[in-house]
Amino acid sequence: MSIKGKTAVITGASRGIGKVIAQTLAALGANIVANYIGPPEEVKATVEACEALGVKCVAVEGDVTKFEDCEKLFERAKAEFETVDILVNNAGITRDMLIAKMTPEDFDAVINVNLKGTFNCTKLAGRIMQRQRAGRIISISSVIGLMGNIGQANYAASKAGIIGLTKTAAKEFGRRGITVNAIAPGFIETDMTAVLSDEVKASMMSAIPLAKLGSPQDVANTVAFLASEEAAYITGQVICVDGGMAM
Ligand code: NAP
Repeated sequence: MSIKGKTAVITGASRGIGKVIAQTLAALGANIVANYIGPPEEVKATVEACEALGVKCVAVEGDVTKFEDCEKLFERAKAEFETVDILVNNAGITRDMLIAKMTPEDFDAVINVNLKGTFNCTKLAGRIMQRQRAGRIISISSVIGLMGNIGQANYAASKAGIIGLTKTAAKEFGRRGITVNAIAPGFIETDMTAVLSDEVKASMMSAIPLAKLGSPQDVANTVAFLASEEAAYITGQVICVDGGMAM
């Protein structure tokens, strides 16, 4: 998969799926801009792992819900590497609760990170990529955005919103050689799913035809393909990486 020498901006790259995406793109020769919001010690591991693979990696602090932070993220990427070739909208949170108990604040918080954060970065990357007349935007949605799930109204709405945003951006940016796609992971083993009860995990497992959980690497491999030259004629798509869960 050809991405050698490209610049990839990855949001929420300090841990979980984002960290593995950063390492996977670095292993293929891309320079990495690793956005993080938490303590800087956490993102250090991502930077060190990427640089050990022989590429440059800069960590840039920023909250994707804040447009000014996103502007600084892309300014820094341009200043370091001159181009932004790949954007991976990965940052995401959950605040699970039945609708009856979900507060408007819980709803807004999840929409703001997952959907508005994706909009902020897509808008800013799109501006740069349109000038370059090339680019790849990949957003991490979820099978929950396709299927819905009890207790996840905010999360499902945010991830379904990413799909609408992806298709719209694919139509708006297509003429400038930019592809925009979404990945809908199923049940992937990270901190986000570690908090689920054994009962919820067992019921999810029973809905997965491949009868196993996914790994961050499964998602990262699909990101790498969509980011590559080989995926040049794929845009506006949602690719499920879910062991068949959402069929
Ligand atoms: P995770 O381990 O909880 O990591 C989420 C990352 O997003 C963390 O690095 C976190 O930073 C960052 N983040 C949170 N709020 C942010 C903000 N406002 N600005 C910038 N970064 C922020 O989750 P994950 O499982 O790797 O999930 C990654 C993506 O995949 C998410 O979009 C998630 O919804 C999606 N996904 C996951 C699964 C799954 O089963 N795990 C399934 C489908 C989709 P901190 O370290 O500071 O918290």
